[in-house]
Amino acid sequence: MLILSFMLNSQVDEIKSRLTVEDVISGYLQIQRAGRNWKAKCPFHNEKTPSFMVSPEKQMWYCFGCNTGGDIFTFVMKMEGLEFPEALKLLAEKAGVQLENRNFENSGKKSKVLEILNIARKFYEECLKIKAGKKAYEYLTNRGLTKDMIEKFQLGYAPDSWDLQSGFLKKKGFKESDIFAAGQTIKKDSGGYYDRFRNRIMFPINNISGQTIGFSSRVMPGADESQAKYINTPETIVYNKSRVLYGLDKARSVIREKDLSIMVEGNMDVIASFQAGVENAVATSGTALTAEQIRVIKRYTKNIAFSFDADAAGMRAMDRGIEMALAEEMNVSVVIIPEGKDPADCVKTNPRLWINSASNPRPIMEFYFESVFSKYDSREVEGKKKIAEELLNVISKISNKIEQNHYLKMLSEKLSIDEKAIFESLSEIEKKQSNFRNQASADNQEKKEAIATRENQLQKRILGFIILFPHFFGDLFSDLDNFLLDEKIGKLYKMIKELYNEENKLTAENLAILKKEISKEYDFKNQKDSLSYFWDTAALGVELDLENIDNAQREAETCIVNLKKIALKKKLKELEVEMKKEGSNVSQQKVEEFNKCVAGLNSLES
Ligand SMILES: [Zn+2]
Repeated sequence: MLILSFMLNSQVDEIKSRLTVEDVISGYLQIQRAGRNWKAKCPFHNEKTPSFMVSPEKQMWYCFGCNTGGDIFTFVMKMEGLEFPEALKLLAEKAGVQLENRNFENSGKKSKVLEILNIARKFYEECLKIKAGKKAYEYLTNRGLTKDMIEKFQLGYAPDSWDLQSGFLKKKGFKESDIFAAGQTIKKDSGGYYDRFRNRIMFPINNISGQTIGFSSRVMPGADESQAKYINTPETIVYNKSRVLYGLDKARSVIREKDLSIMVEGNMDVIASFQAGVENAVATSGTALTAEQIRVIKRYTKNIAFSFDADAAGMRAMDRGIEMALAEEMNVSVVIIPEGKDPADCVKTNPRLWINSASNPRPIMEFYFESVFSKYDSREVEGKKKIAEELLNVISKISNKIEQNHYLKMLSEKLSIDEKAIFESLSEIEKKQSNFRNQASADNQEKKEAIATRENQLQKRILGFIILFPHFFGDLFSDLDNFLLDEKIGKLYKMIKELYNEENKLTAENLAILKKEISKEYDFKNQKDSLSYFWDTAALGVELDLENIDNAQREAETCIVNLKKIALKKKLKELEVEMKKEGSNVSQQKVEEFNKCVAGLNSLES
């Protein structure tokens, strides 16, 4: 085990020495120079100004908005939704490093399941080419798909058998339990298993690295109509249907390039769209669009276009997916399908039409305004009421206040109704939408969390100052034992203070030795838990705005004062509660303590 871990460590180091953190991250995000570091908008939380920092010197990244960070491995794992072995493989390839330990790579249930799915996919692909799959193949070509697309999307056919595939997989040496874990079989009540997909057209669903993680399947035309038309792989250790998007592995680079993603309804639409050369289309499989999926898209673009069938467009006006995209501050637009029922039909009859509409998405609000205004008579009172009601419902979902305001004004002008009345109606709708009490308690919780975070941030910042300015230690930092209470920060502070006490001074050299010592325990798989990670992120946090700090000493002092204030206020609150409980029996000691806190706070305020 030890040797294994040693080999792994040296491979990780080898990869790290060949790939810089800025190279890896700039492959995913637009990064800008910021002094010695780089910054970007964080892909893991919603933000307008960049707080995601990349430090070439420390070979790490860190977001000061959502407090996540790590090295190139954690970045790729988070960004691509991979496990460590997969991230290792991906970066090893990128770095041109040969992984010595194949065992490690293939260990674990997840890899086993991925292997099974990969073989299952090839099995279905082969079946589509033989006589048994002829009808399935014809169906696909009749829908207008070319041979190239059928191959590119690895479409297949599941033969009409209860055990053909599972038997094949077992012969390859896979265990029944693993085949089941991959979602390929169903348990019989009487014991044993049978194949989940039988006599169906198979659409492999891939993760963004192109590995098959599950399947979506369609019943064969003309087959038993009592069956479900579509059956998907159930949730497995590799398949999370609310996160995955069909086609994203192939679409993602084009989505980034065109800065637009197009949501279509089904797998066939994605493939047909690709065939027409519109390669930024994706679809959900077996779910309505989820917030998680929107966040995945957001890593590539802020622009999302929903494809609408011209007839059903009005009905989809209240689509949850659109609401969620608006709430996530995506720029939402609409692509109207000009002919036929879906993009696949449209591409089959006239691909040009799909290409044209896909390259001219219309802003969603413009579209709503038009469709609602055409539905009612805006000169009549009744019509005005209906129009306002429907549009305000949508406008209330826009989370960007400036944008929301813009459309409220537009609505009031178009209906020639006083703006104030429109605003009032909106706030009524918003009131209805949120259960007031729930909201209030959520706000309260948020406030508490915000204070805790603030306290933590201050502690971390002070640690950063200590690391960068060790010579201040005696004057500024030597009596903070009662304030640096975070577990890791407290631990580091104790170590540093011991160092100081030994020589009655703290030097950069001594600190460097200590850091080296701590780094020995650095565990790249649990980076966030290691002290060394904490040390680096604390230092980085201060380093980053040193340019904006004209007097580091004063800035450090301010941090200490603010931290002490928070601690005293917290103490005061606690005492208050206790004193109230004790009522007239309140002890003299408590009163004194209370007064001391008040005095302390007063001295800090001045
Ligand atoms: Zn963030």
